[in-house]
Parts: sequence; structure tokens; C-alpha cells
Amino acid sequence: MKGWVNRMSIFIGPMMKHLNGHKELTNHSEVVDIKAGALVYIPLMNCTEIIAKPGEQVKVGTMIAKRSDHFIVPIFSSVSGTVRGVEHMVHAGGGTADHLVIENDGKFEYEKSFEPGNYEEMTRDELVTFMMNAGIVGCGGAGFPAYIKYKFAKGVDTKYMKDALTILINAVECEPYITADYRNTEDNLDLLLLGVKAFIKAASAKDAIIAIKETKKELIEKLQLRVKDEPNIKIRPVPDMYPMGWERTLVFEVFKERYDKLPGELGVVVNNATTAIAFAEALTKGTGIVMKTVTFSGDAIKNPVNVRVPVGVKVSEIMEQIGGYSKEDAIVIAGGPMMGKAIKSDEFAITASSNAITILEAKPIDTIPCLRCGKCNDACPAGILPVRINNAEKVGNVALIQKLRADQCIECGMCTYVCPSKIEVTENVRKAKKLLMAATKK
Ligand code: SF4
Ligand code: SF4
Repeated sequence: MKGWVNRMSIFIGPMMKHLNGHKELTNHSEVVDIKAGALVYIPLMNCTEIIAKPGEQVKVGTMIAKRSDHFIVPIFSSVSGTVRGVEHMVHAGGGTADHLVIENDGKFEYEKSFEPGNYEEMTRDELVTFMMNAGIVGCGGAGFPAYIKYKFAKGVDTKYMKDALTILINAVECEPYITADYRNTEDNLDLLLLGVKAFIKAASAKDAIIAIKETKKELIEKLQLRVKDEPNIKIRPVPDMYPMGWERTLVFEVFKERYDKLPGELGVVVNNATTAIAFAEALTKGTGIVMKTVTFSGDAIKNPVNVRVPVGVKVSEIMEQIGGYSKEDAIVIAGGPMMGKAIKSDEFAITASSNAITILEAKPIDTIPCLRCGKCNDACPAGILPVRINNAEKVGNVALIQKLRADQCIECGMCTYVCPSKIEVTENVRKAKKLLMAATKK
């Protein structure tokens, strides 16, 4: 009981729950290599410049597009072949976007995207610039450019420490079904360590903590063995609760302190374990994120498995290669079942930040009116009131939506999960956030 009380939201109710993870479906199986088909569709979300023109020949690693609005993120080809043009289609975020279509020649000819680098010989600024030019984005699903956190990490003056940050590596992977980070970490311990050391240098940090669920005993042992001669890297097992992988929850669990807007206020920079591995791959191989390890799991897929797949391959092609659906009516979710987005079909492509595709049986849901039980409020880790936000959304009361701080929702899915009336509470909060965003833009 004591532990539960410790995990109370600062505003209301308990903020975490143990969920049935279904991780056993994929966490010990071999990663399956997926071949790209005749065409790949590289997502160009937020891209301001398309570099590769129709008819041009590209190789694996050729820079084909670039985002250079508020952030700089180069995009690299994941196959060799010929650029065919741009197609506007559904993307993994649920909306639509331009995709660069490349006809795959099947040769997978490779070129270095940039010169590799030895982090020990690079300055902090050189490492941050390298991270930017390598297009390293958060691989935990968010896809935020990683270099931004490091660019502004220097000289963070916190309540607790000055110029002495801690890197917190998030290897928690708390959503049910997803094991891509786990597999990636277990298969790439050397790269993880290298990436973590390079992150420490890039932030002029004093140390790093790798947070991982306490139930991953084998991996914890392996990690502890690997860091035994690294005095500034510690392994920190954390409870198997959802949403432990959320940045705020994890920072509180590890440091027992809360921050207002960014973990930097406490002298902490948080990155996902797979992002550290991607950074290490860039440093050692001179390659950006062109391949992804993605979990394909759920109760409506024949063979749950982790796949290693070039960015831009459509989910429909991957499903064909791994055995397909086990149920006639299935929901395809880009991401995990709690935070992912249900997409109307499987005709969308893997992105640089994809980590999971969850396939669930589509079951009829008998929704009943709200019981006013307050369970959704009690379960919300953001400390907001989802049921009241739902009601405000129904009548389009934007002022109330704002007052209820709907923008604080992290779309963790807990309110829908606990609702006895089977109301899509999260979806309604999402709609409220959209209303608020639209009103703010006016
Ligand atoms: S989805 Fe949003 S409103 Fe619902 S529990 Fe999670 S943070 Fe709270
Ligand atoms: S959990 Fe469901 S039934 Fe209970 S208050 Fe929230 S929306 Fe209503």
C-alpha cells in the first residue's frame, strides 16, 4: 500500500497501474529481417526541402530531403534505386503527408551519409553538430530531434547542480506488447554503451543512469556486467508500471523531484535507449536512421515478432512477409495499444521513429453512459480531469477545456483503459486538445 501511495499524482489519485504486458509474445524471438519491396515510401513530414528529384539514382544513405524550419533533420534513403516522385498518403501519425517514392533496385548499394567520428576526439559542440547532421531523432515514438536537448544542455543552472547534468536513458518500454527497445538493447549492448558515453560528452554531463523495468532481470544482469568498469554509468531498475516510460513519471521515480516544463530544470537530459544506439551507429558507421527494429504484435496477428525493416516499407508488405492476420476484423495501431494511433488501413509506411505496430481484434464495444465513477480522473498521470474535459468537448466549450488544462494530456490511454462504461475517453480528450489548438491558432 505504501508504494502505491508514493505513486500518487501531485493533483489527484494514483497515477500508474501494472498492465498485462504480453511481452512474452516477442521478447525472446529472433528479429526477422524484412526485405523492401519494389517501392519504398519515405515519409517527408515537416520537410522543407526535397533534394532528390524524380529520375535521380540514390543509394542507401543518400540524403534525399531535409527539414530546416525550426529544426534541422536530414532524411536519408533506405534503399538504392531511382526516385519516382512524391505521393501524398496516410502516415503513421494518422494524418496524411508527402512521401518520397523510390523504386528499389534490390541491390542495396550503400554510401556513407557522412564521415564517422570518434566521440573521444570530438568536442561537445562537434558532437551536437554531428547529432544534428546525422538526423538522430527520438526513437521512442516521439521523433523529436535529439540534438536540440544537447544544444541547450550546456551551462544548465539548476537548483541542485551547476554544469553537471545527468543523462537518463529510458529503456523502460512500458506499453503492452512492445519489445523493440528490449531486443535492440540486448542485441546491441556495445553500441548502447558507446552512445551513452557520447551523450555524456555531448551534454558535458557528469554521469548517466539507464532505467529499465525491474522485471527484465536477464538484461539488467547483462547491463550491470557491461558497466562494472564504468563508474559514471549506473543501471536503475524501476517498477513494472504504466506509464513508467513517460518522461515525467520516470524522472520522478529516479530523482524523486518534479519539474515544471523540462527535465533540464533538474539537471537531467532524457533519451531513449534506441536513440543512444542510433547515435552510436551514426558515429561508427556514418549512417543515419535508415533501418528500424519494430515490434509487430497483438491478438490478431499470426506470428508476433520483432522485425528489422528499412524505413519507408509499407506495413501491408511487412504483414505479408511475416504471415498476416489471424482474425478477419482487425485494428491496425501505429504504436502500442495505449498511446498508439489506430490507422484505417495497413497502407502506411514505417518511419524513423516507428517502434511498434499493434494488431488487435476489432470487437464490438457496448458503450454505456458515463457512470460518474471518477475512475478516469483517478487514473490520469497528468493530474487532469478527463471526464470533465470530455463533457466540455461535447459542448465545444473551449474556455473550459483550457481551464481544465487538456493540453497537459499525454495521450497515455489510461482513462479509456479504466472506464467501466467503455467510453473512448482518451479519444475525446484528443478531440478537445485539437479544439483548443485550433482556437489558439485563430
Ligand atoms: S490520456 Fe490524457 S487525460 Fe487520459 S489518463 Fe492519459 S493523460 Fe490523462
Ligand atoms: S471512468 Fe468512464 S464512467 Fe467513470 S467517470 Fe470516467 S468517463 Fe465516466
